[in-house]
Amino acid sequence: MKKWAIGAAFISLIFVFLALLVLFLSIHFLVSNEPSFMATQATGEYLLLLPEGSPVYLYMRAVGREMLLQVVPAKYLNILLAIMQQESGGNAEATGGDIMQASESIDGNLGNITSAEESIKQGVSYFGHLIEIAQELNIQDIRVIVQSYNYGAGFLAFAKEHGGVYSEEISNSFRQKMQDEYDWYGYGDPDYVAHVFRYLNVVSTEGRAGVFRFPIPTTRPYLSYGFGSRIHPLFGSEDFHKGLDFLAKEGTPIYSSIEGEVSVVRNESMGLCVITRLENISVYYMHLSATNLEEGELVQAGTIIGLMGNTGYSTESHLHFQVEIDGTPIDPLPFFSLDDYDR
Ligand SMILES: [Zn+2]
Repeated sequence: MKKWAIGAAFISLIFVFLALLVLFLSIHFLVSNEPSFMATQATGEYLLLLPEGSPVYLYMRAVGREMLLQVVPAKYLNILLAIMQQESGGNAEATGGDIMQASESIDGNLGNITSAEESIKQGVSYFGHLIEIAQELNIQDIRVIVQSYNYGAGFLAFAKEHGGVYSEEISNSFRQKMQDEYDWYGYGDPDYVAHVFRYLNVVSTEGRAGVFRFPIPTTRPYLSYGFGSRIHPLFGSEDFHKGLDFLAKEGTPIYSSIEGEVSVVRNESMGLCVITRLENISVYYMHLSATNLEEGELVQAGTIIGLMGNTGYSTESHLHFQVEIDGTPIDPLPFFSLDDYDR
């Protein structure tokens, strides 16, 4: 929502009205169910690829997933985080605390918000509000909603009139319309969708060989120990390695490899460990340094499981990734798609 051109004063009145609408619809949204059209789309389409050291991870820890999930369907959480990354530019200080640049969605003015937490609350509520309007308009294309985070809710109706599907042409013509209407020099960011989606890897589940998503963000994964017999690095004895070990820096985000329910979060010999379950498939993520997940939560492929660490019996920062089917560990390597390595 940055770069609004300097507009006439009556525009502020429109925003005041919009803010009241946001408030009303947010309350309505919080007591209503997840929009039904969301459920009809394939799950886990968007994998988050934030730059290393992005403050978004810190915000997530501070604010908590629950707050976000009250307003935004789980499958769009990663899109929301990509918006957060885009809005903050990875630099919280530059935005004066308003990391989601959400101040204008309150009353059209800058400077309403000075803390990251306040900004996230307002930004998330606004995003939820846009999803709700999109649902009422029967707009299925998430890109239209993403662009409206920058352009304002008026873009949703405009896009609906023009077929309801995002295109650069529609984005540009809305911008032109607003510029002409208010005699502004510029309006919003016409490439906002591209700017947000550079932080997301959009993968179609259709025709994919891979059952499991790759759990860490890298184009060249470093597998330090494969599945099977090996000499244990700490104990020197021969043992059977029940999973795959991936090396990366401490703090590297770990993504859920498959949808499921968090069945176990515990901290013991394998360090901080999260286990998810989908029917008879259990997936283990071990040696984490941090996680926000709690037992019973649902995850999608691509949901952040936690951060890579060096906890428990571990010699260096790595992820131990283990898959069991009916309690028996399997070698998950063949179940990744080769595409996962090439992106
Ligand atoms: Zn291991």
